[in-house]
Amino acid sequence: MPHQTLMATYAPPEILFERGEGSYLITKEGERYLDFISGIAVTGFGHSHPHLVGALKDQADKYWHTSNMFRVEQGEQLADRLCKHSFADRVFFGNSGAEAVEAGLKIMRRYHYDRGDTKRTRIIGMENAFHGRTIATVAAAGNPSHIKGFFTGDLECDHVPFGDIDALRAAISDETAGVILEPVQGEGGVLPAPKGYLEAVRALCDETGILMMVDEIQCGMGRTGKLFAYEWSDIEPDILSSAKGLGGGFPIGACLATEKAAACMVIGTHGSTFGGNPLATAVGNAVLDLLLEDGFLQQVQETVETLRQGLVELTQKHPHVISDVQGLGLMLGVKCVVPNTELLARLRDARLLSGRAGTDILRLLPPLNLSEEDLAKGLRIIDDVCTDWK
Ligand SMILES: *Cc1c(COP(=O)(O)O)cnc(C)c1O
Repeated sequence: MPHQTLMATYAPPEILFERGEGSYLITKEGERYLDFISGIAVTGFGHSHPHLVGALKDQADKYWHTSNMFRVEQGEQLADRLCKHSFADRVFFGNSGAEAVEAGLKIMRRYHYDRGDTKRTRIIGMENAFHGRTIATVAAAGNPSHIKGFFTGDLECDHVPFGDIDALRAAISDETAGVILEPVQGEGGVLPAPKGYLEAVRALCDETGILMMVDEIQCGMGRTGKLFAYEWSDIEPDILSSAKGLGGGFPIGACLATEKAAACMVIGTHGSTFGGNPLATAVGNAVLDLLLEDGFLQQVQETVETLRQGLVELTQKHPHVISDVQGLGLMLGVKCVVPNTELLARLRDARLLSGRAGTDILRLLPPLNLSEEDLAKGLRIIDDVCTDWK
């Protein structure tokens, strides 16, 4: 139920957590819930990780904020490191996913404007996409239920089915500025792009001179077993939005871009008071320390194999409850035969936290550093809940 003085945009269950410890959230009464949703792919290193807590506390003791009127050393370092480990040459920091996407949408339009191609203002997005809840990001995703009552018209956005390269080719016109897509659709149902699709989109963008933006707010920062999900393909995007896992729970967003795409973002074009704040970028650096540790992403890929295999076995054992496993890396969707909200609620009663996606998917986004023991425990809870299903 929504709380009396909060706008009724959410309806959380009654439970109230007091603290977190690794893969667990704990209530005042000491009840321990195994967290397989990680605040929607945010707390990738679980709760209260000493390296992240240390980074935040150290920075909190020094200074909190200056705005971008002054240099922020931690932000400069984080931008350097994000560029070093990706396709990008330039970074803009914001405070959320939606802001990271907005920066990218602005770049896609301004890029053509600065080249005198002022007709190229339209963005092509994918059906079932999610890019945030601001007006522009809602327009880019095109979900009618998110648009209703907020604006009319398409705000210069077109939409094509995800994975359909012919539809994309047909939709590109001399008014198109760029394409935005999630390499793995999150809210839409935990669906990875079909094999070869990102390469085909890249080729179309190159052919027509438009920009390609990937939204890696959910699937990036190690979630799929590589730092960024586009690395599973043969392409490099022009623009990438990151957030969620980047701050491990501290709010931060980042728009990454090539030199060529970002050349239009000069003084006066864009800004943010809080973006790139020392607290947020200190924690972002600490998250990168952990992600880039030797062998860590390899270890994530091994965890994926064990979890995926275990889930597939459970679909074979309980076909009347769950029927399939999809997704990429530790971004997993379990197809439900029973209502996904009902399965989610029963898992929660059994002390396992999960999410939902699409219409019939149970979403699992466990911490990237999940221990073998907690992995086995999560599978056991799902097994027990399915066994008792009536
Ligand atoms: C969560 C999410 C966003 C929006 O992030 P906010 O921080 O909620 O604004 C955008 N794109 C994708 C793919 C996401 O998963």
